[in-house]
Amino acid sequence: MKRFIILGSTGSIGTSSLDVIARNPGLFTAVGLAAGNSAEIMAEQVERFRPEAISLRNTEAVAMISGLVGKKLPVYDGDDGILELIRSCQADAVINGLVGSAGVLPTLTALEAGMDVLLANKETMVMAGEIVMNTARRLGRRIVPIDSEMSAIYQCLKGESSESIKRLVLTASGGPFVDTAADDLAKVTVEQALKHPTWSMGVKNTIDSATMMNKGLEVIEASWLFDTPGDKIDVAIHRDSIVHSFVEYIDGSLLCQLSKPDMRLAIQYAMTDPNRVQSSFGGLDFDRCFSLTFEPPDMDRFPCLAIAYEALMRGGTAPAAMNGANERAVEVFVEGKIGFNDIPRIIRAVVDKHPYRKDPVIDDLIETDIVSKRYVEEMVSE
Ligand code: MG
Repeated sequence: MKRFIILGSTGSIGTSSLDVIARNPGLFTAVGLAAGNSAEIMAEQVERFRPEAISLRNTEAVAMISGLVGKKLPVYDGDDGILELIRSCQADAVINGLVGSAGVLPTLTALEAGMDVLLANKETMVMAGEIVMNTARRLGRRIVPIDSEMSAIYQCLKGESSESIKRLVLTASGGPFVDTAADDLAKVTVEQALKHPTWSMGVKNTIDSATMMNKGLEVIEASWLFDTPGDKIDVAIHRDSIVHSFVEYIDGSLLCQLSKPDMRLAIQYAMTDPNRVQSSFGGLDFDRCFSLTFEPPDMDRFPCLAIAYEALMRGGTAPAAMNGANERAVEVFVEGKIGFNDIPRIIRAVVDKHPYRKDPVIDDLIETDIVSKRYVEEMVSE
């Protein structure tokens, strides 16, 4: 029985992970659950999955859950509650389904506590990929990706060496505005941006898909996860979301992984890796006709992708500045305070303006994140 701690248990990745656990009762168990403030959903999860401990960030939510589940189990709270939960639970792995830069310290804490990390939180790798990979290597722990593109590459690389890689090709759905003219992008609404054509995800991920920053974050994530420089990582628009990414090898062979777009497949694979178990999630139906299409991305209409490549090339604190600025810019866009095209404009300004450091330690990266978000605040209130 593999024991998991699930971070962000009430969110999109967390609920999908719990669904996989529920379908495999003899294989997996959830021993720790962490969420922000969704006390009622957490109370249901506690009843159903019987974890040994939980954490909630919000203190009102902690008071509420004590009323709902009584004093049956330890409840950690506040910003450090999630770290205390990780340190106190005996688990094989942490599933990190947190959103944004909040995922970094829990990832490092889990590695230091001797656990593998099943990573959906791409911001962890964007902010601190080098430090996280070095920490995992030093401690002999694994980072197993859950993001569908990263999972595809991870699967295609089995049994191969990184020297054999010619390039990685990340597929992108293109988001809801793949056909929207540049002039019209300035006027798109939050509601339009939240309508993703193929994947069902949380708000941050969905807006990131609309701006294509999601793919930019993944380019940086892939670079660290698979030890591949940015000039060997390409992006292809693939509206069908069936091919989840390619690895091209130096001999010219392209390998890819295909399935219906369902996060639970990548989550389950990460949980069973290197083995596989049955599921009903991914299979394609070859009894009917279908075709797959690929197109190059348009970096002029979607400058976030170009910004991410530049930040990766620049290294140091640049990706963390980009990530922090994007996180806050997405929030203020959803709050209706800025337009869609202001998102890349603000991110680029913040990356240019932030106090750059070439060889940051983790505290520098956390500081960069805070400063970048503050710059966005200042630019929006001007
Ligand atoms: Mg993805």
